[in-house]
Amino acid sequence: MAMDRIQFQKGLSLPAFLEQFGTGAQCEDALEQARRPDGFRCPCCGQSAHYLLRAGKHKTYPCKACRLQTSLISDTLFQSTHLALSVWFMATYLVSQAKPTCRPWH
Ligand SMILES: [Zn+2]
Repeated sequence: MAMDRIQFQKGLSLPAFLEQFGTGAQCEDALEQARRPDGFRCPCCGQSAHYLLRAGKHKTYPCKACRLQTSLISDTLFQSTHLALSVWFMATYLVSQAKPTCRPWH
């Protein structure tokens, strides 16, 4: 029988996950780095000058040029969530680490 590559793929241990993404600040940093590796750029006018506010649970970036206010989670699948990013990161981790024991297509 051939080796099941999904069952034996390398994963991320829970302690390693918690070390990297265990706090809300770490999750925000990871999302910010993924979305804006070169820094903030206003989606309306393209300027980089902005303020940084914390409105509720998530960072908000009012543009200094056109005053458009965007947030770290706007235009992402996290938009409109009331849960903390750390909850979503944990859910994503758990789903991604689950290894099915029964795959009917085999
Ligand atoms: Zn702008």
